[in-house]
Amino acid sequence: MAADQLRYDGQVIVVTGAGGGLGKAYATFFGSRGAKVVVNDLGSSFKGEGNSTKAADVVVDEIKKAGGQAVANYDSVENGEKIIETAIKNFGRIDVLINNAGILRDVSFKNMKDDDWDLITKVHIKGAYKCARAAWPYFRKQKYGRVINTASAAGLFGSFGQANYSAAKLAQVGFTETLAKEGAKYNIISNVIAPIAASRMTETVMPPEMLANLRPEWVVPLVAVLVHKNNTDENGSILEVGGGHIAKLRWQRSSGLLLKADDSYTPGAILKKWDKVVDFSEPQYPSGPNDFMTLLEESMKMGSSDK
Ligand code: NAD
Repeated sequence: MAADQLRYDGQVIVVTGAGGGLGKAYATFFGSRGAKVVVNDLGSSFKGEGNSTKAADVVVDEIKKAGGQAVANYDSVENGEKIIETAIKNFGRIDVLINNAGILRDVSFKNMKDDDWDLITKVHIKGAYKCARAAWPYFRKQKYGRVINTASAAGLFGSFGQANYSAAKLAQVGFTETLAKEGAKYNIISNVIAPIAASRMTETVMPPEMLANLRPEWVVPLVAVLVHKNNTDENGSILEVGGGHIAKLRWQRSSGLLLKADDSYTPGAILKKWDKVVDFSEPQYPSGPNDFMTLLEESMKMGSSDK
């Protein structure tokens, strides 16, 4: 891919939660690079309370003043079909969906209420699903689409006080992996990022000196590369990004233990060889459920009871 001045002329890009933080940074960037942008934002607080048209309007004005094209949408991502409809009605197509909208309901698991769980899963999981589901028929028909879903280190590794958010964020990974597999033959490319950036979400939990090095604008270039039409290689990738750092993550499996599935297969037999279960000296990097089946078949063919 040519490195300089990636452009998106004629493309329609939907950015959810684009009224502030990372979403605003994506929207203004793509607006300045030739794309027609749907700036979606419900205008709620970071805890998901209230709503306002102002957040999206301000970003649309900024894009237009800079000579770009943009339209606002104020629906919650839970009504994703309305957001995609805004793209179709105003610009006639949709090429890229950036599922970015998000909220927090941080509380220790001991004190977590059903509402804290439900709201987070609704906005993050159902929201990403509804937007992608509404865009999917257009992507398939035109044999072109690019999707970014937004995970978080909290989802990948867990984070104190964020059981709801962690669960919803790791869900983005499984969701993306499946979209990547189902979309590949239609040139629909889906990737998931775990960003870190200064925003209203992080400003209360990180020191100012750190926040100064985590501008949302520094997450944008990676997303720009991933959703560009020339990206046909990275599909179903998990990338962490922030403060100038970009890295790809993948699953790693230990070489593992295979016991004969008969009466000798007891908890004690597992414990005796536990070191093999946790031995990462010869790791594998599985990328699909079939890898596990193949592993079992191969071991069975070898007739080994203990590899
Ligand atoms: P932010 O609060 O600045 O932006 C999120 C935006 O989403 C807000 O403008 C909000 O109004 C909007 N929004 C909330 N609920 C919505 C809904 N139901 N429908 C439409 N819009 C809605 O936060 P941010 O830091 O820019 O976060 C962007 C995304 O990145 C989120 O998904 C967040 O979970 C994720 N993330 C951020 C960080 C970080 O370090 N900032 C880290 C990991 C993940």
